[in-house]
Amino acid sequence: MLANLPESALNRRQFLTALLAGSAALAFGDFALPRAARAAGGSGPFALPPLPWPDDALSPTISANTIGFHYGKHHQGYLNNLNQLVAGTPLADQSLEAVIKATAGKADQTAIFNNAAQVWNHTFYWNSLRPKGGGKPGGALAELIEKSFGDYDKFKAEFAKAATGQFGSGWAWLVKDGDKLIVTKTGNADTPIAQGQKPLLTVDVWEHAYYLDYQNRRADYVVAVLDKLINWDFAAQNLAA
Ligand code: MN
Repeated sequence: MLANLPESALNRRQFLTALLAGSAALAFGDFALPRAARAAGGSGPFALPPLPWPDDALSPTISANTIGFHYGKHHQGYLNNLNQLVAGTPLADQSLEAVIKATAGKADQTAIFNNAAQVWNHTFYWNSLRPKGGGKPGGALAELIEKSFGDYDKFKAEFAKAATGQFGSGWAWLVKDGDKLIVTKTGNADTPIAQGQKPLLTVDVWEHAYYLDYQNRRADYVVAVLDKLINWDFAAQNLAA
């Protein structure tokens, strides 16, 4: 369910159909629905997916306060902007991924691309985190990390370097590239799926992701996320998908 983020790919009508069919309800039924998601109804073709955990589940590494603003204000804000921008256009009937790919690199559609990509990136980020996550993965991912980076510590150092070295706002990614894994970074709203790449994990390095908890210490936030929150099960699902 989480691996290919079907909920984010669905427009509201498709989402409600899936919900009625029971699949979305099964996937989300064990989670606390955040207030922002409940309040979002009826305002456009795209819906904000619920968080995959309660808003205090990542504390103290990421506080409920940060999640409240990040999900309830930032993510919701991108979603609201996107719904306003595509209202009454053919894009309103497309999947989120299709909107991103259709608008990538088009100067007259930058606002739509930025908001659509930020909606997608944030849903992918929430799913890249979990309570009691972090540390080394196992199984096929462990082998692929050794093959691609040498060992887990070298992967971790390269990912942390990309995340802390991204100048200004953006994202660090673990991406499948052919038969290996690579670490990449993107600026602002840019996303690997716009280039047809296959991301496995991401960490948001916009200041709003960490400033309430870590102030200017982005490196501390990145290392804490890698050690305590990274969701290797999600990465493994994406790898297998
Ligand atoms: Mn963010």
